[in-house]
Amino acid sequence: MTIQIGKYQLEFSSEVRTILLGHRQLGRADPEAGGIVLGRLFEDRISICRLSVPTELDKRSRSYFERHRISGQSIVEYEFFNSSGQINYFGEWHTHPEASPTPSSRDIKMIREQFKLNTLNMDFLLLLIQGYSHLFIAVLDKSGIASASVPHPQ
Ligand SMILES: [Zn+2]
Repeated sequence: MTIQIGKYQLEFSSEVRTILLGHRQLGRADPEAGGIVLGRLFEDRISICRLSVPTELDKRSRSYFERHRISGQSIVEYEFFNSSGQINYFGEWHTHPEASPTPSSRDIKMIREQFKLNTLNMDFLLLLIQGYSHLFIAVLDKSGIASASVPHPQ
């Protein structure tokens, strides 16, 4: 399945879809989950192939997720090295306790800051927010933010 967002076509590996579905906050007390998004870029086609999962270092509550600065860093280095630089850091994901998520002002601030700080070679950054039924996807690049909310990709 390919999802068009602005000029980009996004694809999700089955591993990524499984992680997103598996972390939905379907239990009443389930905290937000999240991590980093990794993938490969083929011109404007973004192939999302890996996600990191929450660690003990992250701050989590029912409606809050803050990835620890170093959490996820080793997976970025591992994948980059083992793919000869083909697999890169593409952005951040987390869950929301709502059916069709909308980003909070903090989410938007975070992705803008990450984009500014980004020292990698990518000229865009992804924000994925998984809700109970829908996945919110935003692509930030120098022309702004393009986004869509889609039923969880099958
Ligand atoms: Zn959020």
